[in-house]
Amino acid sequence: MVATARWATRRAADLIRSSTADVALTRTWKPASGHGQELKDAVFQLDLLKGKRILVTGGGTGLGRSMSHRFLELGANVVICGRREDVLEQTAEELTKETGAEIETVRCDVRLPDAVEAMMDRIWQKRPLDILVNNAAGQILAPTHKMSSRAIDAVLGIVLHGSAYCTVAAGRRWIDAGERNKVVMSILTVSALLGAPFTVPSAMAKAGVLAMTKSLAVEWGPRGIRTCAIVPGLFPTEGAWSRLMPKERGGDEELVKTIPLRRVGEHIELANLAAFLVSDGAAYINGDAVVIDGGKMQSGGGGASTQSMLDWTDEQWEAIRPKKK
Ligand code: NAP
Repeated sequence: MVATARWATRRAADLIRSSTADVALTRTWKPASGHGQELKDAVFQLDLLKGKRILVTGGGTGLGRSMSHRFLELGANVVICGRREDVLEQTAEELTKETGAEIETVRCDVRLPDAVEAMMDRIWQKRPLDILVNNAAGQILAPTHKMSSRAIDAVLGIVLHGSAYCTVAAGRRWIDAGERNKVVMSILTVSALLGAPFTVPSAMAKAGVLAMTKSLAVEWGPRGIRTCAIVPGLFPTEGAWSRLMPKERGGDEELVKTIPLRRVGEHIELANLAAFLVSDGAAYINGDAVVIDGGKMQSGGGGASTQSMLDWTDEQWEAIRPKKK
């Protein structure tokens, strides 16, 4: 998390504490609407990712933690990185307890190219990676004309530069060694596709990562390296909610109304998509970004002016029916 104003963090923490049952914070699997657990058990063979070595940047918290959890359950060998060693250690301990699998941690600030190279050397010493997940991110909610250059650089540094440094560091090692069947998957945001007011540096950075995903699909495809991305909608995490959901945005009930499926995403839903995309089952998916947002992105364009009508009663519809003259 970068440059987050303290007041925003406090208010958002209040929001999380007071959030209603519908929008449960799902740090780990939580079948909030009754189907999560079955999904978790049913979707894949339990050795789907056996033998795969995966680095999840920002894997100590939120969605990175949830993806790491799922990868471990499916037999992968997982490494997580982030800047806070205590967070990484605690997560590793919890994930080992929850899944019975060992997990490695590396402290690394992905904004620093030398640190990224050192992390990759350390990982490679043990065994080369098969999959890189660019998940680490920072975010600031503010009017763009009031953002300092430091704040802009911080977001671009983590998301745009960090993803590029990690991707190139892994890709170069794979290409130099002639290794094939490798994957780079990046976690984007809807703003990468549509833009977004008040989170402009993030939208710019994620759009850049999307351009990298599409470009490298072509450049590295012949080398046996494929690229893909996930575009998540709203998945409650402490990080995202503390930065982006001050109560002035209208609270959780208002938020859920903007999603056609009328609920936020469950972490397992995103983790299952991630597991599929990095697996050999998705071997022909290259250069694409998959949206998982309960249909929220579709409710912008042509449907914008009809949003409030979604909850109309029969009586309201009856009232506007053309009357016989
Ligand atoms: P999060 O819990 O705050 O995760 C961000 C992670 O990135 C943290 O573990 C953080 O660890 C790490 N990180 C930040 N700066 C770093 C740096 N310089 N070097 C290395 N690691 C760094 O937030 P999240 O909600 O799970 O978000 C995960 C991903 O999903 C992000 O890419 C986000 O843009 C995307 N996403 C989330 C949502 C959502 O609703 N949650 C929606 C759309 C997209 P340290 O602070 O210890 O470094």
